[in-house]
Amino acid sequence: MSLLKVIPLGGAGEIGKNCTVVEMGDDLIVIDCGLSFPHEEHFGVDIVVPNFDYLRDNKDRLKAVVITHAHEDHVGALSFFVSEFDCPIYCTPFTEAMVRAKLEERVKLLEVPLKRMTIGKKFDIGAFEIEPIRLTHSIPEMCAIAVHTSHGVVMFTGDFKFDFSPVDHQPSDIKRLTQLGEDGVLVLLSDSTNVDRPGWGPSESAVAEGYRREFSKAKGRIMVTMFSSNIHRMQQVFDVAKEVGRRVAVAGRRMDDTVRMCQRLGYLNIPENVYLPLEELNKRAAHEVIILVTGSQGEPMAALSQMSRKEYSRLQIVEGDTILYSARPIPGNEGMIWRTVNRLIRLGASVVTDAPTPIHVSGHGYQDELKMMVQLTKPFYLAPVHGEPRHQLLYLDMAKSMGHPEHRMFHLHNGSQLCFDDQKAWIDDKPVKWGEVLIDQHGNVPVTDAVLGQRAALAMDGVIVVSLAADLKAGALEGRPEAQIKGFSGPGETIEDALDALCDELAKLKPAELKSRDFLEGVIVDIVKRVVQRKCQQRPVVIPVVVAV
Ligand SMILES: [Zn+2]
Ligand SMILES: [Zn+2]
Repeated sequence: MSLLKVIPLGGAGEIGKNCTVVEMGDDLIVIDCGLSFPHEEHFGVDIVVPNFDYLRDNKDRLKAVVITHAHEDHVGALSFFVSEFDCPIYCTPFTEAMVRAKLEERVKLLEVPLKRMTIGKKFDIGAFEIEPIRLTHSIPEMCAIAVHTSHGVVMFTGDFKFDFSPVDHQPSDIKRLTQLGEDGVLVLLSDSTNVDRPGWGPSESAVAEGYRREFSKAKGRIMVTMFSSNIHRMQQVFDVAKEVGRRVAVAGRRMDDTVRMCQRLGYLNIPENVYLPLEELNKRAAHEVIILVTGSQGEPMAALSQMSRKEYSRLQIVEGDTILYSARPIPGNEGMIWRTVNRLIRLGASVVTDAPTPIHVSGHGYQDELKMMVQLTKPFYLAPVHGEPRHQLLYLDMAKSMGHPEHRMFHLHNGSQLCFDDQKAWIDDKPVKWGEVLIDQHGNVPVTDAVLGQRAALAMDGVIVVSLAADLKAGALEGRPEAQIKGFSGPGETIEDALDALCDELAKLKPAELKSRDFLEGVIVDIVKRVVQRKCQQRPVVIPVVVAV
């Protein structure tokens, strides 16, 4: 029998860009195709997507992508995937609607083979039988994916919590998880995001109580910011608004589109006379309105961020506004979020980022919920994913404390090949090719390490452009080189010293060398960099310009 392999191309040892291959014989499928967000050192990079080289090398075996849910870290790389691969992409109706809305921005939808799957209904892809199982999370239609193979069941939990009072009244399918456990699960690839939080997380529906408290305290307008995919939280804003006699307007294109789409498809149930078109906001008194706004992560172009800079023409912050942050900061976004919060406070708003009764709860299960998943599914092997290495190790410790044998646990990295034959499982010595592709959304090509290095150098020490006029045919220089600087903060005489040193060096060149543009440019960069670094320990980018006269 062929080997069964499970290979994360992203999402193992990180929270983001989830993308895992399951392959056997001639069949290869991918579970999720997500993005992650850039770090501080990724100058000008907007998103990070997985490197698809392994899929390119195995294109003929690639049969399908199966999506667990519509969060960006699970679907955000699809627009890059579909421009290159044409296999079907299976998702639930809600996920499909969200993915379509997102893809519309980039690709021709007719060419994207999105296929519906129904939660609880198995279907075949090549040698695999795929079973989507309902779990609770912070977005509708989150599915664990059980991949039935001739070696056993590979179970992806996706992102989950065990929420016993979900806002949409669609609880996790605990019965099916139990049956799978009784029949035997070969390996569980579990979410490990909140393994460091003991106990059991609060239900999403607890947020309504937080809203009740904060809404009743506010005298003026209320603005609530959250992820525009958090439909259950929006539902609670609409419901509590009705209770307290306020109407809800929506600011921000992405959020407005999502609200309309979800209402049309029945995922959002807006009580009668609660929705208020943004244009009618001024017809209502301040204490009668709530505004849902984009920008919970401090994104510069989002409505709330623009309001904080007084750049949003449709709505201005006024004294007495209360702004509720109903979302967790994604690590790395804290700086942008706090800068926005400070600007909002300066404009006279009260900003609530944390409240005694929570206005935000995590969509990921705490430690006892992760234990419950293990108890229910009773996997033979365990491999935590959707966590940084520290989360994965804590998860393995947790599993040990539950009596799970150590030799049946794996610490996966991106590129790890977890292999199964009919006797055992092991990680292959050789990882497959994996990596991250940095995307600057204003350009269509990935940002390379070289470009990133140049951007870092420009940001740190600026640029010096050195121009030199030369008669290249005769091999003669015309006058003294000149320098222009941008963003360079070293003393002015450093530049003069560098140009003096350059003149001395140029005077020593042979006629043949003076006829070569490349050679002259090399000398300019070499001398100017060396002098500047020696004089003031800075490393600006040096751009040589040889003007032929
Ligand atoms: Zn998620
Ligand atoms: Zn996730």
